[in-house]
Amino acid sequence: MGRNNFQIKLTQNNIIHNFNYIKKYTQKEIIAVVKANAYGHGLKEVVSILSSHGCNYFAVARESEAMEILSLNIPEIKILIFETVNDFSILKKYNNLEMVVNSFYELKELINAKVDFSQLHLKFDFGFARNGFSTDEINLVKETIIKNNLYFKGAMTHFFSSNIDESKKIQNYFLKSIEYIGKDYFSIIHSENSATTLLNIIDGSTHVRCGISILGMLDPGIIDENIKRSWSLSGPIYDIKDFSNLDFIGYERIENINTSNFSKVGKIKIGYGDGFSKRNTDILCHIRNKEYPIVHISMDTSFILIDDLVEIGDNVEIYQNFEKCNAFLKMDHYEYTTLLNSRIPRIIVK
Ligand SMILES: *Cc1c(COP(=O)(O)O)cnc(C)c1O
Repeated sequence: MGRNNFQIKLTQNNIIHNFNYIKKYTQKEIIAVVKANAYGHGLKEVVSILSSHGCNYFAVARESEAMEILSLNIPEIKILIFETVNDFSILKKYNNLEMVVNSFYELKELINAKVDFSQLHLKFDFGFARNGFSTDEINLVKETIIKNNLYFKGAMTHFFSSNIDESKKIQNYFLKSIEYIGKDYFSIIHSENSATTLLNIIDGSTHVRCGISILGMLDPGIIDENIKRSWSLSGPIYDIKDFSNLDFIGYERIENINTSNFSKVGKIKIGYGDGFSKRNTDILCHIRNKEYPIVHISMDTSFILIDDLVEIGDNVEIYQNFEKCNAFLKMDHYEYTTLLNSRIPRIIVK
């Protein structure tokens, strides 16, 4: 790692705590959702932590993400891919890969390709324009399943909001549809994401699919004191300049920046090349428990207005308070954590 680099620190014990807490709380098996680089936490790091502490079932959105997990060569793990893969032959090549059947058309394709249905999960859609076959196709689907003797690994659906009544209604349709087709065709049943899992409102599933909650983040509006944050972003000030010598901060003329109360500018090694977008301009970061504004962001470097209390080498924390940052950025925390790319090293701490 380069000198003075920014780092994302993952607190291993908190991730393990969250996983065990959710498991105990729901009394169901967990499929750990680690899509989008584990929401920016680091796919390889998170899978390694979880797989060595009792989690052997993971889910991702894309085929490429599943390949990245497979490259870790972790024995005895299963990986579910939500989106349809490009070539069904990879399911034959890797029997620990599983895939969601996202339409009736795909179901027929998969029968023709002679894929092992114990690697497939049938997705039920209840009219929210996401993936899955829709309710008016259920008779066709049922006929096809019975005629071809298709025994799936799972039946699944997805809740489109964390609205309690809406989610309960969908679960009800879902369970009735499974019953109608025949329960025996599905060995596991799953629908819950983090929000509905933590609200504890869904009956009838065998597994939950949790992502953000395992990583210690909650959806806006969901409160659970037992979920522990596991993520932080920080790095040192590597250079300090006095305003008196400067015409520009980065590429910005000093007179265009509100510099009141500050006398100096501190530089840090993070920029939009790391996924720290210019949209963060003027966000407050934390140095020695005090807030300072990041006033300019370039590709590799960002510039903070500071005072005499700050010294070279001081630790700068960005996104310390998710709630405040979400309000400032008009973005959810899991969106900006996901945006930070692999140029920032992920470090696992106890
Ligand atoms: C992302 C995703 C999840 C996990 O959602 P969280 O809110 O992160 O728990 C579960 N199921 C599907 C289909 C998803 O796309």
